Amino acid sequence: MGRVDRPVSPLRVFVSVIGGCLLTLLIAWMSVAWAPTPVPTYGVPQSSAAEWPVAPLAGWPAPIGSVWARNRWMDQYSGTSERAGARYIALIIRAGLPMRAMQSELWMMDDSGRPQLTQRGIATGLRHDRNLGPRLLPTRFLPLGWIVDSLVWGAVVMALCCVPSMIRRRRRSRCGLCTRCGYDLRGAPGACPECAAPA
Ligand SMILES: [Zn+2]
Repeated sequence: MGRVDRPVSPLRVFVSVIGGCLLTLLIAWMSVAWAPTPVPTYGVPQSSAAEWPVAPLAGWPAPIGSVWARNRWMDQYSGTSERAGARYIALIIRAGLPMRAMQSELWMMDDSGRPQLTQRGIATGLRHDRNLGPRLLPTRFLPLGWIVDSLVWGAVVMALCCVPSMIRRRRRSRCGLCTRCGYDLRGAPGACPECAAPA
């Protein structure tokens, strides 16, 4: 029985790393674009800006309330602040599987009658529902989630790359053929006379 395993080639590692990163990005973006409206899980009054999931913008007042909503595909955080009777709303979306890997942020101010909008993300024109802001494709990376997701999806790409040739090599080995080139090795002990692979 010949060896059926082969060291993982640099090309496959390269394809897996790139594929893992691309899949992580695609899954996060498709989740935001197509996921149903997240279901609110709980609302908590928060008195400190330090409790927000992102650092507030410079001069941002402390939040007076917030709601987390989530489904399988994404987490959505909406928070409200108040200063001098003006309302400030922040909408933060995190997406990615199995961990949240990317984040978009939308900050809306209505201060002294001059509404301002700050966003970090790519606007899609879609909305989650009437009361919530637009769906922004996230452009900010969450380091831990990004690494975990890229590893997971990279492993999937690696498996998909390796499985077909592994099955072929096992079948050749069982049939007494050279695992590398398929030459019939019955009655030819030692190295393959065709490609010189050790039997
Ligand atoms: Zn051979």
